[in-house]
Amino acid sequence: MADRAADCIFCAIVAGEAEAQKVYEDERLVVFMDAFPVAEGHLLLVPKRHSKDLFETEVEDLRALIAVSKDMAEAIRSELAPEGIFVCQLNGAAAGQTVFHYHMHLIPRNPGDRVRPGSQHGRIRGDPAALVRVAARLAAAL
Ligand code: AMP
Ligand code: ZN
Repeated sequence: MADRAADCIFCAIVAGEAEAQKVYEDERLVVFMDAFPVAEGHLLLVPKRHSKDLFETEVEDLRALIAVSKDMAEAIRSELAPEGIFVCQLNGAAAGQTVFHYHMHLIPRNPGDRVRPGSQHGRIRGDPAALVRVAARLAAAL
């Protein structure tokens, strides 16, 4: 499979051609703020190599991503102290996937919030200044 797909927004972010508030990057993956967060600190973990979904993604990319998800969860916990963290990854439009480049969501959760990942995410653009601030805090906590 080609490393990059045409007309893929996450490939454009990986290439530095589209803006994103990055929190972490290594040779295999990049982590950035969801631009339409359902909660403060909503992160996306994205392999650099393009693949559509779980079925297409190389296991080495998945292993690397799971390991980094723990570091990201620790950063969220130390900086934002949510009562819980929701981890999800959607495969196919029927499951609610809207960007067809594999990614994992990390979403801070608290009692009484009204987050419904999978049905209501990706609708309201986050305040750009707030995304910059939270990205810097999370990156500093790593
Ligand atoms: P999914 O529906 O699981 O494919 O999730 C795609 C996620 O990507 C949604 O939560 C969107 O808010 C987010 N998203 C879409 N475009 C961008 C972008 N340009 N930068 C950051 N996040 C994005
Ligand atoms: Zn892509």
